[in-house]
Amino acid sequence: TGAYLSAMEAGRALNAYVLETPEIALARAADSDARIGRGEAGALEGLPLGVKDLFCTEGVRTTACSNILGEFVPPYESFVTAKMRRAGAVMLGKLNNDEFAMGSSNETSRFGASVNPWRRAGSDAKLTSGGSSGGSSAAVAGALCLGATATDTGGSIRQPAAFTGTVGIKPTYGRCSRWGIVAYASSLDQAGPIARDVRDAAILLGAMAGHDPRDSTSADREVPDFEAAVGRSVKGLKIGLPKEYRVDGMPSEIEALWEQGAAWLRAAGAEVVEVSLPHTRYALPAYYIVAPAEASSNLARYDGVRYGARVPGRDITELYENTRAAGFGPEVRRRIMIGAYVLSAGYYDAYYVRAQKVRSLIKRDFETAFANGVDAILTPATPSAAFGLGDKADASPVEMYLNDVFTVTVNMAGLPGLAVPAGKSADGLPLALQLIGRPFDEETLFATASVIE
Ligand code: GLN
Repeated sequence: TGAYLSAMEAGRALNAYVLETPEIALARAADSDARIGRGEAGALEGLPLGVKDLFCTEGVRTTACSNILGEFVPPYESFVTAKMRRAGAVMLGKLNNDEFAMGSSNETSRFGASVNPWRRAGSDAKLTSGGSSGGSSAAVAGALCLGATATDTGGSIRQPAAFTGTVGIKPTYGRCSRWGIVAYASSLDQAGPIARDVRDAAILLGAMAGHDPRDSTSADREVPDFEAAVGRSVKGLKIGLPKEYRVDGMPSEIEALWEQGAAWLRAAGAEVVEVSLPHTRYALPAYYIVAPAEASSNLARYDGVRYGARVPGRDITELYENTRAAGFGPEVRRRIMIGAYVLSAGYYDAYYVRAQKVRSLIKRDFETAFANGVDAILTPATPSAAFGLGDKADASPVEMYLNDVFTVTVNMAGLPGLAVPAGKSADGLPLALQLIGRPFDEETLFATASVIE
């Protein structure tokens, strides 16, 4: 813990932490030492970890990196972080993310963007560590923590992991409780880890997952021994390559990476087959209707009365307006407006209902592939390597949304998805592949990913 606290101080240029909690860390590390001395070590005993600022932490400021939460200090701890703490985890601090997890580059954070520890060969230009969990990925890749919690609504664990050469898994919807995690889009949000390798990700997920009666969508099922699946043989597994993921303009190095991944799996005894997920091209537009719709509803609670920041007005309506105008950044305001629009009486059927129908079709595509005997699906994780901070500042917001083309389908279908480093770009940046599994079969993903890493 002491070594990581020093590394955090030396690594502040990465802007990975938005709050460092050294006193808490040292106190918990001492408790861990005592438990280890008594032979009572938990699964994460003494491990120094970072926590995304979307997880409520009791007595420790939690802002979702939004001004509207001000200096909010939750009086309770999220289910996931409470469970990790019981397993002995040591919290080093709170990690940067896009405001309310809306973004793909960490640039919408009130604290400014986190910075990728990687650089293009021969260039000093700062690159994004991805988003929304950009603080988690930067901290893990920069060795400012051993592992980190993150959340994924449309790719926010997998894309930051892909951009930083780390491993990230979004488990099946319902595997981790959402209780005490600041909500973005409740039917898509899931917690998961970002870690240095597949084994660490398996250990962390095992400590985060589990049933919680306080989240009605939390699944009441046993948490398997994920670590035991790491290194398990993939012989005889059927791996599907969806032909619809060969999108126009896909860089040849991403295509080559994908072929390489398939070749490794074949060499390890898996059978690689082509599959079809015909509704893939509707996933991104449908996601950018469903997610803002749910966000506009979830974010209605930030009114200047109950939490965080307050900007007074002459009456209550003006107080709401002043607080929300000052508290939300431009991307969050855009999502709230899109969401309110697609849910409004005149447009509900044309947008929201249609997007929900598309969502069912996307889910059915995957069900058909799995029913045909496919055990896991292999795709690229992102359409490119990490891009430069500020590079998309003047582009249309849709440019940024296109980053999520390979990841959002997984959230729409509620499936587990894992990003694993698989190679390097021509200019030396990490590139990753994504594995998608059957519901509640994260084990196959860990087994398959350990062949690729
Ligand atoms: N980039 C996507 C969005 O902005 C996904 C974010 C996430 O998974 N939290 O909605």
